[in-house]
Amino acid sequence: MIDHAAVSFWLETSGDDLAPRPALDGSTDADVAILGAGMTGLWTAWYLARRDPSLRIVVVEREIAGFGASGRNGAWCAPDLNISMSRLARLHGEDAARRMQQATYDAVDEVGRACAEAGIDAGFHKGGELIVARGPQGEPALVDSLGEYRRFGFGERYRLLDAGELARRVRIRGAVRALASDEGAVVHPGRLVRGLARAGERAGVRIVEGTPVTGFRPRDAGGPATLVTPRGDVRAAVIVLAGEAYLAELPALHRQLVPLWSLIVLTEPVSDALWAEIGWERREIVASTRLSVDYLSRTEDGRILFGGRGAPYRFGSPIRPEYDRHAPTHERLKGFVRDWFPSLADVRFTHEWGGPLGMPRDWHPTIAFDPATGIATARGYIGHGVSTTNLAGRTLADLITGTRSPLTELPVVNHRSPDWEIEPFRWIGVRYAQWAIGRLDERAAATGRPPTGRSLAERIAAH
Ligand SMILES: Cc1cc2nc3c(=O)[nH]c(=O)nc-3n(C[C@H](O)[C@H](O)[C@H](O)COP(=O)(O)OP(=O)(O)OC[C@H]3O[C@@H](n4cnc5c(N)ncnc54)[C@H](O)[C@@H]3O)c2cc1C
Repeated sequence: MIDHAAVSFWLETSGDDLAPRPALDGSTDADVAILGAGMTGLWTAWYLARRDPSLRIVVVEREIAGFGASGRNGAWCAPDLNISMSRLARLHGEDAARRMQQATYDAVDEVGRACAEAGIDAGFHKGGELIVARGPQGEPALVDSLGEYRRFGFGERYRLLDAGELARRVRIRGAVRALASDEGAVVHPGRLVRGLARAGERAGVRIVEGTPVTGFRPRDAGGPATLVTPRGDVRAAVIVLAGEAYLAELPALHRQLVPLWSLIVLTEPVSDALWAEIGWERREIVASTRLSVDYLSRTEDGRILFGGRGAPYRFGSPIRPEYDRHAPTHERLKGFVRDWFPSLADVRFTHEWGGPLGMPRDWHPTIAFDPATGIATARGYIGHGVSTTNLAGRTLADLITGTRSPLTELPVVNHRSPDWEIEPFRWIGVRYAQWAIGRLDERAAATGRPPTGRSLAERIAAH
């Protein structure tokens, strides 16, 4: 039996009763059947129910709502995708890249608006975003990012801060420059995802928990599409596969996503005296330019959340609860907190956790619906799902109801990523990239020179 409150600080402090809802009690029919009660599944259900209250919508969840990445993340609700505008432009054209970026800004605001409409107290706070160069090696990446935003017409939303300007906002050891914008927000992901489940139910959505989906079947010869579970089938005109990283466990999708762990440490509430030294009054979401990824947020109750990658990929892409904790990575993250904020040398860490991200082979998110098979899905957000799941929910609602809209014309719609390699090649490639990216960061920090962008690992990561 999993202790759901121990999964993350967010579920522990969601204020919601985490006791599982009743499981599926035999086969049933629906209009829309959704695998997964994370933000993708629940936003999709909520927007669909709002649009057409007569729809019979069933969400099938193996554990409890918010058990996956949605209840564990770094609280960043940011207008960022894991795919750059330049790459989107190369693949889909400049206009498509621009529309995609605009949609991510809109998604951040829509999370705040929709939470207010649905009566969800998700702690949405739009304090902006800071990407920090901790040493000269980080500066070119900031300048390049600003250049990219300018090229696509979003430059006025971003500003380079020098060390003094940054220090007036937040004091970070070694920070020499930052790229600032007002666009990012911070949320309480536990209250958001658990609140969404309640809001969906108020709108007529049925959520069954403790019910694993073991397979699915497309619509055929006029028959419904089906989610298969040991407790019965859910037959529906449309099924939505919203299990993100966990979809890799289903044989039919096994090679579509690699599960990669992101891990988090959380401090105790920091004293007012220490906050006065650190600053960070606006509660911006903060990251550095390291390739290995680090992300920080300041919680409503005055703690520092520090997240990062680094836990090793496991051969064959298994997902097990014990992978949510990886002592060497968690210790490294605690060291980073003390390094960024030396005044926190004695701070206590009260929580550590982690969870799997779904990594597509081409790093390209997908929001898809095939009316012929009745199968819809949205996945591959990597570390940027908090706002993108909302975008996915609205887009899937349009696709499923046959509503043409600017969302259904976005370049992520009906994208199909290539499969990952079979093992052992997948393991060799991912582990190599993880190792090499760590080395590049170490070398950049030691020399003060940025990575060249030409190494094999960077080319894999930028792919
Ligand atoms: C540690 C961590 C930090 C992150 N930080 C950020 C951040 O700060 N900002 C950001 O934007 N993004 C972040 N992300 C990514 C973001 O959280 C995810 O992209 C997003 O929550 C994905 O939502 P989802 O609903 O698609 O998937 P999930 O939240 O993973 O939900 C999938 C659900 O499906 C259920 N499920 C899976 N398989 C089955 C099955 N076979 N049968 C029944 N149910 C099933 C799972 O139990 C789960 O509840 C982070 C992720 C992690 C893990």
